[in-house]
Amino acid sequence: MHPLIRTLTLLAGLLPGLVVAAGLQVQPVSAGVWAIVGEQDQRSPDNLGNNATFGVIDTAAGLVLVDPGGSYKGAAQIAAAIRTVSAKPVVVVINSGGQDHRWLGNGYWREHGARIIASAAAVADQRARSQDQLIALNNFVGAAGMAGTEPVYAGETFEQDLKLDIGGVAIELHHYGPAHTPGDAVVWLPQQRVLFSGDIVYTERMLGVGPQSNIKGWLASYAQLKQLPVLHLVPGHGRPTDLAHAEQDTGRYLSALYERVKQFIADGGTLDAISQVDQSEFMTMGNADQLAGRNAHQVFQQLEFE
Ligand SMILES: [Zn+2]
Repeated sequence: MHPLIRTLTLLAGLLPGLVVAAGLQVQPVSAGVWAIVGEQDQRSPDNLGNNATFGVIDTAAGLVLVDPGGSYKGAAQIAAAIRTVSAKPVVVVINSGGQDHRWLGNGYWREHGARIIASAAAVADQRARSQDQLIALNNFVGAAGMAGTEPVYAGETFEQDLKLDIGGVAIELHHYGPAHTPGDAVVWLPQQRVLFSGDIVYTERMLGVGPQSNIKGWLASYAQLKQLPVLHLVPGHGRPTDLAHAEQDTGRYLSALYERVKQFIADGGTLDAISQVDQSEFMTMGNADQLAGRNAHQVFQQLEFE
């Protein structure tokens, strides 16, 4: 290899992420572990529903993919991103929850021979919401981008914990309880001390509490996840980081939102005045303008009758 090309190749390896397509960046996390970081913004014809972070784990038996992408074509885009770091096939796909980008790309991977694994609660949630999610994705991504996308569910499920050995790599799945969605699960690699948190942790942007979320369960799941001796954390949204950053962008916000809405209700506050709940110190986070009010509204509805 020409010395200049060799230098350039080495430099490229040091850059924070290789942009592959539609904002997908492949970032090394640990030996044989990568994050594929998608856009933080809304689903679009360009990102094909991949507005989240995904993970890839290299094993002697092939690759394990953490979350398949938000559509059939989105999954194919993830496959192209993976090929920039490995030529091995994806043999296992894990669905870390019930939100669209955690499972609606399953069809592509099943077609390519992968085993698909999810918590039983995630599959129940996916079944309940598949039509709503497909309608929403058709609006944001468009019919062309959604072509080929069918609801395909995991062939293997687990209740709370599942310990796998795939090609010599220990992979643990833990469903702590309902959080962002009813079936959220984390993927823990005890050897590398890498945690894929799924949508329990968002960084760099405000998290979204939806009608499918459970604020108390989310806080409890987050508390459990924090007990793991995490060296590298790959959030559900955001770039690879650590637990301190998760605390900064998810832990603090979840607790403040819960405590303040609870106090607002105790003080006799009503839903029409919910905007009085102070979230000012979190408003510099991405997507805060669209989500802060909706989040407080959702938490109010969950705590109102307690
Ligand atoms: Zn998400």
